[in-house]
Amino acid sequence: MGKLGNATAKAELGRATWKLLHTMTLRFPEHPNDDERDALKSFFHLASRLYPCGECAAEFQLLLKKFPPQTSSRRAASLWLCALHNQVNERLGKPEFDCAHLEEKYDCGCGDESIVVVEPGTIKGG
Ligand SMILES: Cc1cc2nc3c(=O)[nH]c(=O)nc-3n(C[C@H](O)[C@H](O)[C@H](O)COP(=O)(O)OP(=O)(O)OC[C@H]3O[C@@H](n4cnc5c(N)ncnc54)[C@H](O)[C@@H]3O)c2cc1C
Repeated sequence: MGKLGNATAKAELGRATWKLLHTMTLRFPEHPNDDERDALKSFFHLASRLYPCGECAAEFQLLLKKFPPQTSSRRAASLWLCALHNQVNERLGKPEFDCAHLEEKYDCGCGDESIVVVEPGTIKGG
């Protein structure tokens, strides 16, 4: 017999995931290069395939088809994701979030330092 769903755990996973996704788009470069744009697009497509909750993953994949990731800038990416999350909110009967408040809600505590990209093979140990 399959394991019963656990709504509390599913909601907790959702909150943690949204936090990561929103914080990531709000730290995405203001002027991304092609490689950075490809990375963000691939990340969302892979995340939608590998998301552990099956029902959510199916919904995620449908939404990405309908609303493909916007990767031209930090603003475009973060507003796109905010709108995508609002689509999920609507389906689940949750209130719409005002996307004007994104910046104040998602602070990773990373200050102004930019995202550091390390070339493959340069990380020692592990
Ligand atoms: C891709 C994805 C698909 C999902 N699909 C399903 C599903 O099909 N069925 C299901 O039961 N659950 C699904 N979930 C989980 C669901 O979206 C919620 O995470 C979960 O129900 C907990 O909801 P919550 O009310 O605590 O707030 P959450 O929706 O988790 O949001 C967390 C916090 O983010 C803020 N927030 C809300 N909306 C936005 C927004 N638009 N932009 C930025 N910040 C916002 C609010 O402060 C909110 O409290 C999915 C999660 C993800 C990541």
